Amino acid sequence: MSNNGIAHEKCIIIGSGPAGYSAAVYASRASLEPLLFTGQEPGGQLMITTDVENYPGYPDGIMGPQMMDDFRKQAERFGTRVRLEMITKVDFSGPVHKIWTEAGEELHADSIIISTGASARWLGLPSEQHFMNKGVSACAVCDGFFFRGQELAIVGAGDTAAEEALYLSKLSPQVHMLVRRDEMRASKIMQDRVKKTKNIKIYWNTETKEVLGGDEVEGIRIYNNKTKEESTIAVKGFFVAIGHKPNTGIFKDWLDMDEAGYLVTKPKSTKTNIEGVFASGDAQDNVYRQAVTAAGTGCMAALDAERYLTEKEII
Ligand code: NAP
Repeated sequence: MSNNGIAHEKCIIIGSGPAGYSAAVYASRASLEPLLFTGQEPGGQLMITTDVENYPGYPDGIMGPQMMDDFRKQAERFGTRVRLEMITKVDFSGPVHKIWTEAGEELHADSIIISTGASARWLGLPSEQHFMNKGVSACAVCDGFFFRGQELAIVGAGDTAAEEALYLSKLSPQVHMLVRRDEMRASKIMQDRVKKTKNIKIYWNTETKEVLGGDEVEGIRIYNNKTKEESTIAVKGFFVAIGHKPNTGIFKDWLDMDEAGYLVTKPKSTKTNIEGVFASGDAQDNVYRQAVTAAGTGCMAALDAERYLTEKEII
């Protein structure tokens, strides 16, 4: 606590996905005594995932929420303090970084690790929400395996949708790809790959009206916005790949970002353009976006923060 009554921390971590908790494990073991703010979705995107089968060390897989509970416990075991609150404002103008909670509390920190993640964009259909984790997914690499051998649909026309359609085509006999315009946004090479893949059928000018089913997804009702015709396709899985939105809005006045809002870090580091502020996980990665890669960059951010605090003779 500083003499003006404002809490002063060596290291504050913002975000509680694999990046934030991995940063917390490393930072607390290095005596940075981190304080972690979970944000409004404690545990991040893995909380809306069921089985995680691609995180090394879990030979039988693990449920996403259980995994995040384990991450939190591991961080707490080494002394990380976890607060279930949102950070809504920051000021990185001075050597001491200032942040504010939703309730208006001001805190100061010598170093900040950002791991606020990204959120998948959804179509916004009530039926999409209803079948979440019962056949609707925003991650083919995470969930495609559960639908192997079944017909699937994917919506989107960017590089992610193209990449995920190709991934699904290796698991499914028929992938139905729904593109809302008469062209794709994906790079030409990815479009060519999709078009050449025999078991991917592209539906141009096509929008999704409804996800159909009982307990689980059984099909989709689609609509051709040129011919105005509606039809249904029987599928067991519906993948939404219409982009992600990094949760970086509160940093826009301070940190360098790309045009989509992903934080820019210096090569081979997690350093941002502001000294003592480090970025990890999906908030700065629109390429890999995996739990294990996020955890890796969280570790990197804690190591970078520790070096920074040592150089500044703060620890
Ligand atoms: P994106 O490029 O923003 O593409 C989103 C796609 O979703 C667009 O085709 C868009 O259609 C469609 N879409 C948006 N809202 C929709 C809706 N309501 N209904 C139907 N379709 C909708 O997102 P992204 O594919 O995730 O890629 C993000 C960035 O990462 C891009 O810069 C991309 O190049 C990059 N990326 C690169 C790689 C790689 O290099 N291997 C892999 C993945 C991603 P419209 O085209 O009609 O707007």
